[in-house]
This record gives sequence, structure tokens and C-alpha cells, in this order.
Amino acid sequence: MSKTLRLTEKWMHRGLWLVALVFAGFLIGLGGTVVGDLPKVEKRLSLDDFMDTAASSALRTAIKTAERAGQDADTALEQAQLKRRAAQADSAAARETFNNWLATRRATQLAEQDPELVARTQALDLLKNKERAAGVAVEAQQQAALDARQTAARERRKLGEMQEAAQKLLNAEYRRVELRVFLYRLALTLPLLVVAGWLFVKKRKSTYWPFVWGFILFAVFAFFVELVPYLPSYGGYVRYIVGIVLTALVGRQAIVSLNRYLERQKLAEQLPDVQRREELSYDTALTRLSKSVCPGCERPVDLKNTAIDFCPHCGIGLHDHCGQCSTRKSAFSKFCHACGTGAGQEPSLR
Ligand SMILES: [Zn+2]
Ligand SMILES: [Zn+2]
Repeated sequence: MSKTLRLTEKWMHRGLWLVALVFAGFLIGLGGTVVGDLPKVEKRLSLDDFMDTAASSALRTAIKTAERAGQDADTALEQAQLKRRAAQADSAAARETFNNWLATRRATQLAEQDPELVARTQALDLLKNKERAAGVAVEAQQQAALDARQTAARERRKLGEMQEAAQKLLNAEYRRVELRVFLYRLALTLPLLVVAGWLFVKKRKSTYWPFVWGFILFAVFAFFVELVPYLPSYGGYVRYIVGIVLTALVGRQAIVSLNRYLERQKLAEQLPDVQRREELSYDTALTRLSKSVCPGCERPVDLKNTAIDFCPHCGIGLHDHCGQCSTRKSAFSKFCHACGTGAGQEPSLR
């Protein structure tokens, strides 16, 4: 198209496309602002929204208590172990002293030392008792620590089960929210798409086409940026099915238009030469000629070959001779390039 437009027209055309883009840009900006200013319909949900607050906080408190009890028991256990080690060391040292003393006594055989033997044995028993008591204390603390750990684990398991159930509810709620957000956006975008579709079909070649195209670009942007990413996926099903449906619709439309075009072309090729030439717009004819295709049937023709005056495919006249000066010229030009006679004044064509 741009090859045959007048120079100024070509630049004006580009300027108008710029207008369309700028218009679309401002519409997109306005749309974004409107969407940003809309009240946020959905509040952020958390796991706690789906749990019995009293029960869950009771469980958390129980876990914390059990953990603290476990820590206390561990600290006490360390102390008890230390005490037991001291008692064991005391007992072992006393036994060694006693054994040494006993060996000496056997050697000396002094009978007056018998009460001392009794006293020493009693002292040794006392130390042994202390050692045993320390051992009992250690075992008690070990038991307490184990109890606390098991209690904490049990409560944690209960809380985990509760959270799992809540997670299921939360996921279901997320899916509902996703769908709601999508429908909400669809309600905003669908009217735009409908209007854009109507404009594309009816108004894309009107005088105000830059605004029409600006709006169409805006609607397309809104569709791909504001709607498509929010399509609920349901594990990918919806996205693929929507893609298939859209492709089928677009493909069907393309096939229908191709067939319609071919039918129109076939009908046109049956019309008389002069009528066909009149129905072709001057600009269309020039565009097609500049691409070395027949203006009538759009099949390739050799325009440089001076022996070819008619399209070999559809028979439309490509070159004729000026009625005034007989110069061979394009049958589509409005004036003879040699003498300037208007093509309509040629006696040969009438
Ligand atoms: Zn042709
Ligand atoms: Zn002429």
C-alpha cells in the first residue's frame, strides 16, 4: 500500500499510526489506574482462618509447655549426672582407702582395730547409698525428659493433623478466590473485547481508524495482560482447552474468509474486462502492479515483457495503446505517459 500512496499521504499515515499507538498507550494507562484503584475484593487468607482458634492455641501452648518442661528436665539431668559422677568418685576413692587400710590391718592383725573396721564399713555403705540415690535422681530426670519429649511430639502431631485439614480447606478456598478474581476481571474485559471486535469488523477502515485501532490494541493488551494470566488452571486443563477453542475459532474464520475470497475472485474473473478494471481501485491496481502480480487475479505476471498485453491467467488487459498517440501504456494508468491524453477519452476503449 505504502508504495503507491502519495508521499505526504504516506507520512500522514505513519503519523496516524503513531496517534493510534499513543491513544492505545493512554487507554492502557487509564485502564491500569482504574484496576489499581478498585477496592481490593479479596483479603489475604491464612491457615489460621480455617482452624479452631481455641483448640489450636491450646495445642500450641501445650507444645510450648512440654518443650519447656523438656528443657528443664535436661538441665536437671545434667546436674544429677554431675552429682552421680561425684558420688561415684567419692565412693571409689573411699573404697580404695578402705582396701589399703584392710591390707595393713591383715598384716598387723591388731584386734583393737575391730570397731574402726565397723565404722569404716558403715561410712563406705553410706557413700554407696549416696551413689545409689544420685543414680535414682538421674533416672527420674531421664524419665521426666522423655515424658516431656513424647508429650511435645504427640501435641505436635495433633497440631499437624489440624493444619493438614485446614490446608485442604484453604486450598479449596484459594480455588474459589481464583475463580472469583477471574470472573471479576472477565466482567471488566469482556465488554472491551466485544466493543473491539465490533470496531474491527465494522469500523477498522473508517475515517477515524487511528482511534479504532488504538482501542483495539488496548483491548488486546487488556486480554493478554489483565485476563489470560488470571485464567484458573485446574491443573492446566482450562488453559489448554481455551487455547484449543480460540485456535479453532480463529482457524475456522481464516478458512471461511479464504473460501469467500476465492469465490469473490472467481465471480470477478467472469465479469467483462472493462467492468473489472472499473471495480478495482486505482491504488489497489498500482500496488499489485508494483509487486509484479496481475491486478485482477493476483497471480504473478511478467510486466517487463513487452509482448504480454493480457494476463495469461484471467485475461484482464494489462497494457493497451493510447487512442491519441498509440504509445503502449499500462491499461490501468489514468493518463497516457507520452501525450497526456486522459484514458477515458480514448476512442478505442469506448
Ligand atoms: Zn490475471
Ligand atoms: Zn498518448
